[in-house]
Amino acid sequence: MKKIIIAIDGHSSCGKSTMAKALARQLGYIYVDTGAMYRTVTLFALRNGIFKGDSLDAARLEEMMPQVNVSFRLNPETNLPEACLNGECVESEIRTMEVSSHVSPVAALPFVREAMTLQQQRMGLEKGIVMDGRDIGTVVFPQAELKIFVTASAEVRAKRRFDELKAKGDDVNFDEILRNVQERDYIDSHREVAPLRQADDAVVLDNSFMTIPEQNEWLLQQVEKAVAD
Ligand code: C5P
Repeated sequence: MKKIIIAIDGHSSCGKSTMAKALARQLGYIYVDTGAMYRTVTLFALRNGIFKGDSLDAARLEEMMPQVNVSFRLNPETNLPEACLNGECVESEIRTMEVSSHVSPVAALPFVREAMTLQQQRMGLEKGIVMDGRDIGTVVFPQAELKIFVTASAEVRAKRRFDELKAKGDDVNFDEILRNVQERDYIDSHREVAPLRQADDAVVLDNSFMTIPEQNEWLLQQVEKAVAD
């Protein structure tokens, strides 16, 4: 079967990574979570005192960018890629509310986007890749053979994130998560560089009321169509 590039974009916490992982596993494709890359840069910024409260010293981050190396390492137990910051696996550190609430301003910085976009484009050179994010079908791979734009209501998304963090034992507050989801939607959609928007040729998936098996079946149908084209 011909190998293609599958771009999955959409709002925060709508299950893009769950579906992208399942799809990559089924197809034997590489999975890349680009949100993890922006989260890793954010973790670097937080660790290096680049945030003073909520305000971000962009000039200092730009100066320090050459010291930021984001990579992925395959976890042999789960067979899933895990994000690394300068060689240290930071997969759980980048999923905290602290990182979630600082990531959107970092991801809006043009020099951060430029560095991550170049790295993502290199990862897709051989095709056979499922990449999820906000600008994959519009900026990173505008030529992707299949583009999916995923959405669900903000309340449904916040509830999913709440359940996920609670299951990990985090002390979480639903209203705070809902506010974070809404804020990230706003910043991601209104930034100047590579804002979140649906590519003209994307297929829309509203999964508010879909089960995971229903969603997987729908995705496989889209892949079959795209490969046949
Ligand atoms: O996908 P996830 O929610 O982990 O992404 C974290 C944040 O990274 C998003 O809220 C967004 O600000 C940013 N992001 C982005 N472009 C991407 C992927 C993520 O701006 N391609």
